[in-house]
Amino acid sequence: MSSRRKPILTSDGTQIADVVSCLTCPICHKLLTNPYTIQDCMHSFCYDCITAHFEDSKQCPVCSEYYPGNPLSILVKDSLLGSLSEKVKKTCSQVTGLEHLLQSEP
Ligand SMILES: [Zn+2]
Ligand SMILES: [Zn+2]
Repeated sequence: MSSRRKPILTSDGTQIADVVSCLTCPICHKLLTNPYTIQDCMHSFCYDCITAHFEDSKQCPVCSEYYPGNPLSILVKDSLLGSLSEKVKKTCSQVTGLEHLLQSEP
């Protein structure tokens, strides 16, 4: 968070860094892969990250909201975030300095 870098502007003037911060998984700190959002607090994570997290916790990793019962039942697939993330991934792969946000392919 403390590293300063020059704003990178897209053709419509949006700072990629701003967009990327909305599309970054708080658990793995990469761009969201198959994003799911917790309906109640609207925090979003990769499906793999949040399901792994909820195996041994019932709290949101961001706001620590407690979800008794089965937390997986309050997750909703966020296809809009997913498609945005895919687009940003393509851009990041062409922009120096953002490659660290990409999941390394297996
Ligand atoms: Zn993740
Ligand atoms: Zn939350």
